[in-house]
Amino acid sequence: MAYDGHNIFAKILRREVPFFAVYEDDATLAFMDAMPQADGHVLVIPKEPAETLFDLSDEAAKALITTVKLVALAAKTAMQAPGLMVMQLNGEAAGQTVSHIHFHIIPRFPNVPLRGHAQVPAATDTLKTFAGQIRNVLQA
Ligand code: AMP
Repeated sequence: MAYDGHNIFAKILRREVPFFAVYEDDATLAFMDAMPQADGHVLVIPKEPAETLFDLSDEAAKALITTVKLVALAAKTAMQAPGLMVMQLNGEAAGQTVSHIHFHIIPRFPNVPLRGHAQVPAATDTLKTFAGQIRNVLQA
């Protein structure tokens, strides 16, 4: 399917809408999920326009998973989480709601259930604080 550049992550990449950045390099961008399923929920996206994993070039896929690994460890450390979930959805049938491929990085704690998927917006101050904590770990 042709890539639709009107999706919200394409707008984030073009700096047309606000977001809380965690990490950026030539090929990838990581930022706080605006409706997090847990504290410290981060999204990692490629700069290459691709809707699903199957549309992504191998080169962009390699860069993406490298950033996922880097940012996941930083989020786990910053949030002092004993566990961390990595999630990636392909297609509406799988629950994908934004048509630009992304990995979810979700810190997990015992007996803390996940909040709903893309349901409740977090306070901007909270997102800003967690983004700062994760960036601090990456810069240490
Ligand atoms: P998915 O359903 O896998 O496509 O996930 C899309 C994710 O994007 C959800 O977790 C949403 O909470 C998140 N999201 C939607 N709009 C924004 C936004 N403007 N900034 C940050 N995260 C967003």
